[in-house]
Amino acid sequence: MTKKEQQRHVIERDSLESLFDVLRHKGFDIVGPTVEDNAICYSSIDSSKDLPVGWTDVQSEGKYRIKKRQDNALFGYVVGPTSWKKFLFPPRIKLWEAKKSQKDFDIVENTDEVPSYAFLSVRACELQAIAIQDKIFLKGDHIDPIYKKRREKTLIIAVNCTEPKGTCFCVSMNTGPRASFGFDLSLTEIIEDEKHYFVVEVGSSKGEKILKDVSHRPVESSEIEQQNKLLEKAEREMGRVMDTQNIKELLYKNMEHPQWGDVAKRCLSCANCTLVCPTCFCSNVEDVTDLTGDHAQRVRTWDSCFTAEHSYIHGGNIRSSIKSRYRQWMTHKLASWQDQFDSSGCVGCGRCITWCPVGIDITKEVKAIEDIPPADVERE
Ligand code: SF4
Ligand code: SF4
Repeated sequence: MTKKEQQRHVIERDSLESLFDVLRHKGFDIVGPTVEDNAICYSSIDSSKDLPVGWTDVQSEGKYRIKKRQDNALFGYVVGPTSWKKFLFPPRIKLWEAKKSQKDFDIVENTDEVPSYAFLSVRACELQAIAIQDKIFLKGDHIDPIYKKRREKTLIIAVNCTEPKGTCFCVSMNTGPRASFGFDLSLTEIIEDEKHYFVVEVGSSKGEKILKDVSHRPVESSEIEQQNKLLEKAEREMGRVMDTQNIKELLYKNMEHPQWGDVAKRCLSCANCTLVCPTCFCSNVEDVTDLTGDHAQRVRTWDSCFTAEHSYIHGGNIRSSIKSRYRQWMTHKLASWQDQFDSSGCVGCGRCITWCPVGIDITKEVKAIEDIPPADVERE
């Protein structure tokens, strides 16, 4: 066994509940996958009974279904419509409020207490998405205090994907299926014959302290072999492939490619793809008042480059057509993001493909631009 392998441990299925007990005892709000509205969503959970025990998901372009498995796996599915950004970068949050006093308005900052989250079942692509949002919100000239407060208190328990689904392409984006950084603990679920256990890897001292209090035992070499076998199989079974070689140059030199017009005929500009995407970070700020006019609030909400108002600059909208909005989204995600943040803005999670109501597939749109020679089209 290598040194890294020696640092692995095993938690038996029957002992997993003690992980929940330890997290609760240490004051964490546990957030993890659970069945909600016929989908596997991230929400508050209390015990392993709240996990989607015995459920899996089936995903394809514009289609998502959950179905029963043949076993009682706890993590036998991939990512659903929610992502962790919902907790670190909430969809709607009050920034401050104004209350009418005798002569003026008193401004009250939002000092709401932020829970210490323990995220359970963060997949490898999602670790990369969190790392991307860390860079956006924490590492530039302007640090986002809302994100910072939440992120600093968050514990991350990753789960390795052993069964990728039809819209996954993390291998193409070099983000999965194995969690290799950014976690406190990671688990690989293994069910073989009568055995059901989790191979655990420790990623931080915080994770090590949690594991100390959870019932566990040393890993056996055969269990590491089984873990490696499952992860290698997962790598081979990706639902999609995206050719990322020279993708930045490809998109930059094809701003007038006819494919943008083709996708615009199908795209509804509904913004679903940006809302489910774990890396999209656009927001808007709104002021709202109550009917008496005595209270006002300034709130931050998620926004999307697919909305007509998003690119409104005094006197007009600079991306008034769906064609220009789709091109902006995809070119930013896969090309200009690299110039801006030194990485791709896509982690290959497949959510934008599954949750697009008309089944537009970002991997196929890239392929079409690669394959179809550009024709002369009018510049907008
Ligand atoms: S662009 Fe699509 S596949 Fe890429 S990270 Fe966003 S939702 Fe996932
Ligand atoms: S690509 Fe699909 S999900 Fe995105 S805005 Fe267009 S129709 Fe909506």
